[in-house]
Amino acid sequence: MRLLLVEDERRMALALCEILRLENYEVDHFSDGASGLEAIKSDIYDIAILDVMLPEMNGFEIARRARQCGVRTPILMLTAKSEIDDKVYGLDCGADDYLTKPFMTKELLARLRALSRRRMDTNDGQLRFGDIALDTGTMTLTCTANGLNVRLRDKEFRVLEYLIANQGQILTRDQLAVKIWGFENDSEYNNVEVYMSFTRKKLGFVKAKTQIKAVRGVGYELRYDDV
Ligand code: CA
Repeated sequence: MRLLLVEDERRMALALCEILRLENYEVDHFSDGASGLEAIKSDIYDIAILDVMLPEMNGFEIARRARQCGVRTPILMLTAKSEIDDKVYGLDCGADDYLTKPFMTKELLARLRALSRRRMDTNDGQLRFGDIALDTGTMTLTCTANGLNVRLRDKEFRVLEYLIANQGQILTRDQLAVKIWGFENDSEYNNVEVYMSFTRKKLGFVKAKTQIKAVRGVGYELRYDDV
């Protein structure tokens, strides 16, 4: 899961990044509204956490403009204000949930889990496609036809998670590289190929019929042919 955090209070942002990374989320942090809007518009995030009071553009405005651009990423708003009017306004702007500062870490994590379940359309922490199931808690890949399973490494997990979340679409190498390594990666395209090959080996190991197909000159997609 790749999270976007837009928060201008440095200490708060550092603490949140640390907590979220410990929970196995990839986090990109921006500290002003304008960069936050650009980031969310990239549409690579599974969840966006937006502070309301930000320099340049507030969190409500980011949410409103992101929705206008067709971005469907679930948005959790953070605010120091607790007035009910703000809550209503935030939800009108396209936010999905709301958390009032100060909040407990436990509550933040619970809200994120709820939003990611909504995003992934899963109730039991399992992402499914064809004859495979991916357990998002243990990062285990299981072939549902024969019960064989294997633990995935972090990046292999992210590759499959992203492919399953976008099933039916061809994902370009660029999309995969940014999604898996983030904006600040200096990884070359080769890395995508390397991780595709690792991930394919894991699919082969559990004898899944689901395959990662390379679409020449375009990218990759997940296919399942039950023959
Ligand atoms: Ca703030």
